Amino acid sequence: VAGLTMAACDEAPGSTGAASSSVTSSGNGRNGVGVVLPDSASSPRWKIDHPRALAAAFQAAGVPYEIQNAEGDKAVFQAIAARMIDSGVKVLMIANLDSVSAKAVIANAKAHRVPVIDYDRLTLNGGADYYVSYDNVAIGVQQANGLISCLRARRTDQPVVAELHGSPTDNNTTLFKDGYDSVLRGRYDSGEFVKGPDQFVPAWDPDEGKAIFTQMLRQWPKISGVVAANDNLANAVIQVLRAAGLNGKVPVTGQDATVQGLRNILTGDQCMTVYKSAKAEADAAAELAIGLVRGEKKPLTGKVKDPGSGAYVPAVLLSPTLVTARTIRSTVLRDRAVTAAEICTGA
Ligand code: BGC
Repeated sequence: VAGLTMAACDEAPGSTGAASSSVTSSGNGRNGVGVVLPDSASSPRWKIDHPRALAAAFQAAGVPYEIQNAEGDKAVFQAIAARMIDSGVKVLMIANLDSVSAKAVIANAKAHRVPVIDYDRLTLNGGADYYVSYDNVAIGVQQANGLISCLRARRTDQPVVAELHGSPTDNNTTLFKDGYDSVLRGRYDSGEFVKGPDQFVPAWDPDEGKAIFTQMLRQWPKISGVVAANDNLANAVIQVLRAAGLNGKVPVTGQDATVQGLRNILTGDQCMTVYKSAKAEADAAAELAIGLVRGEKKPLTGKVKDPGSGAYVPAVLLSPTLVTARTIRSTVLRDRAVTAAEICTGA
């Protein structure tokens, strides 16, 4: 079977419900690893995939751990980290809400000799000991390339492209944008594509995204393609397009390979997504964290320049995978990152 289709969902068994269960809190990280994740609204991955994958990695190593989610509140984020440091974690792992609040968290950890791993998002000028993420510029390139092939398939002449960037305070947003700008700039310059509206979405909030895209479409009714920085923003855009009877006619990009995103791809409303295995990212970060708990500092060949301080941070950058309707089976389903039943039922 080449691809999964919505029609095939009729034959899929019922949902296991596994995807909707989440790990927000867990054991005590004393003498082990404390993990602070940013929110739940910007992507279901912070609530479901990452906590689950991280918990599995620490359990397999028999290392104590605690995983908490700050639910979008910077003061809560700092308080959770401070409490973890006080209760004796040996390593702190953070996916920040913004660089300013996270810089204070890292400074607090350093004052207590607790090493810090920046998880997925680099803290600018933060001075973390390690950074584990995906190649975020490559993600933006995949989004632009995905959009270009969807527009080409529709033979749209001089398509007007709108861009919905992520949170302006997430360094990844800059990197994704660098990636898609590098591909789209030439098309805009040559006149092949028309540069439509573009805007950042505070905190990656899908409700804000919906309001912003509603305005964009009002001012630019000829929008014929949308770069949406992740699947949650893509879904917000698709809702607005649907209300205007345009869903499925205007290709929309995404990222995260969420159940909703994959579903939108199967219904033909979303052009592509980017799969970033949470297991691979969690395993890479856990390996470093576990080494630090055991007093080993792992030498890494990779490094990333912090554009804030100019310092190099030892880093692991994994490769993302572009996913379209044709490749859902051979990527996320083959990896068991999601099941067909979850995609079919939207659970
Ligand atoms: C992550 C994306 C996620 C976004 C919103 C980014 O930093 O890399 O996977 O969709 O934040 O949470």
